[in-house]
Amino acid sequence: MIKSDISSAAADLRQKLNLAGPVSKDIFVDILENHYEAYLFYYPLGQDKISGFAKMQKGIKFIFINSSQALGRQNFTLAHELGHFELHQGRESWDIDGKNQTRERDADHFAACFLMPEEECHDVFGDTKIFTDFDVLRFSQYYRVSFEDARNRIATLFKNRLKSDKAEKVHDIVKKAQNLFPEQNFDYSLYEPSGEVREPVLKFTDKMKQAYTEADISYGKLIELCQNRKMNPLELIDLWGQDH
Ligand SMILES: [Zn+2]
Repeated sequence: MIKSDISSAAADLRQKLNLAGPVSKDIFVDILENHYEAYLFYYPLGQDKISGFAKMQKGIKFIFINSSQALGRQNFTLAHELGHFELHQGRESWDIDGKNQTRERDADHFAACFLMPEEECHDVFGDTKIFTDFDVLRFSQYYRVSFEDARNRIATLFKNRLKSDKAEKVHDIVKKAQNLFPEQNFDYSLYEPSGEVREPVLKFTDKMKQAYTEADISYGKLIELCQNRKMNPLELIDLWGQDH
């Protein structure tokens, strides 16, 4: 796909989801699960393992994120998987069972455009004449992405203005920045693995509640679904009753 089409697709989706500015992880997860109808899983699969993958089964979207990687990287992976859903329809899985380089590049570009929209980057960071390590850090903190993803985006959008030393480690840069600007609170968590384990349990139970109360499924089926997910059906029904 041509780059401008990918960037338009990312902008269209932001508009559809009513997003403005940087997307924090919590907002992102809420939107994906409640407005985009995707099921999100986080699991620590190991640092050198796959960053994440996406699957489509019976029209339902599933996204898996490896939480052994740094949080900023996880955010980018989430947007990358979203890119596969938007750009590469008609498939059942992405990033597992082999990768296609063009599709991977497209999904990465989608993620960069979705998380760090061009126009907004120019509005917020356009006055920066030279992007030093500290400016890349500011950019990465603002958009909640890894240092590397921030640097790549700056290199694309602000050509020839990037003067950041590739060899410098992000943890050293944060330390130096913290000494120079002690009043700033840098969020270290972006550069650390979160190790989060997350299953979209509430989303499952909401769907089950809807199906059960609208008599789409029987009590027997409910018990079966609960058993598969190691839940107690009576506790669930009790919980649902408290809503009224
Ligand atoms: Zn991919």
